[in-house]
Amino acid sequence: MTMAPTVDQTVRAAGEHALIQRILARLPQPGWLVVPAGDDAAVTRPVPREHEVVTTDTLVEGVHFDRRFSSAADIGHRALTVNLSDLAAMGARPRSALLSLVLPDTLPVADLDALMDGLLGAAAPHNLAVIGGNITRSSAPDATGRCIPGAGPLIVTITAIGSVPARRVLTRAGARPGDEVYVTGALGGAAAGLASLQENPAATGDAEARYLRPEARVRAGLLLARNKAATACMDLSDGLADGVRQICDASGVGMLIDSSLVPVDSGAAAWCGRVNRDPLTLALAGGDDYELLFTVRPSARGRLRGVRRAIGELPITRIGTVIRDRRQRVVTDAGEVALPDGFEHFR
Ligand SMILES: [Mg+2]
Repeated sequence: MTMAPTVDQTVRAAGEHALIQRILARLPQPGWLVVPAGDDAAVTRPVPREHEVVTTDTLVEGVHFDRRFSSAADIGHRALTVNLSDLAAMGARPRSALLSLVLPDTLPVADLDALMDGLLGAAAPHNLAVIGGNITRSSAPDATGRCIPGAGPLIVTITAIGSVPARRVLTRAGARPGDEVYVTGALGGAAAGLASLQENPAATGDAEARYLRPEARVRAGLLLARNKAATACMDLSDGLADGVRQICDASGVGMLIDSSLVPVDSGAAAWCGRVNRDPLTLALAGGDDYELLFTVRPSARGRLRGVRRAIGELPITRIGTVIRDRRQRVVTDAGEVALPDGFEHFR
């Protein structure tokens, strides 16, 4: 029999089996879960008459997060949220997820618990159930190049599954000339927060919170899809400029973005004032906001009003127009300028 691990143990001392039992004990078991986690694989009953939407994303320590300022709970929250955001962008309702953890030996069991707190806390509002996964040890090369098991980064991979009615799927490919371009929420907050935390890992504020605890626009995506309000949609993981390029490429169109309409996050604006940077560039190029960028036919404005009414306080802002000519430009007082490069700039 395996001993129950204690929170001050490392995951190595606790052992894989005990860790898996510890996680399994926390997982909800919805009625559609025919065979739950713990067997060789989970078995689920599909949602009747809906298409399944599947996405996966990996967070690697040192690449996607820094444990000097992202807590284990923040990391768990983010790992699930980035996947929820991709489901939202497709108009899908989240349902289940698989979790694959690659752990350094020295990670305390308390941190694994906190990671699961963050992850399950982000899942609960959407009734998403973690239905299976895997735990293994990390490794890293020593000075001679030999890989040492147990060393190395923390890596969290989530595969999330949702569903959407057949003719309600949102893709990047549906934008047509004349459509209006919209974005949810405000932009640049996460990029400002990350830059601030990299300078001072103890910094706290609105922008820092936007970076540490992003929110996926699941309800907005669902409403846009189910009301047939949007022609194309994507989530802004890598910034607005990147999103504009992706939708234009997939749809074979161009876009004009009006710089005066782009909603800049108030925390980002405050940070830009302090460090003397341009808030518009940050809003266009900064990543990690996880807002939705979407296009709406002018004839569907009524449907968009329905979405706005149902969504409550999340702002939806028109920022531009889809054009036939395949150029992507920002319209400013000084004339049209090219889009800045994406998120890469801000790493
Ligand atoms: Mg995406």
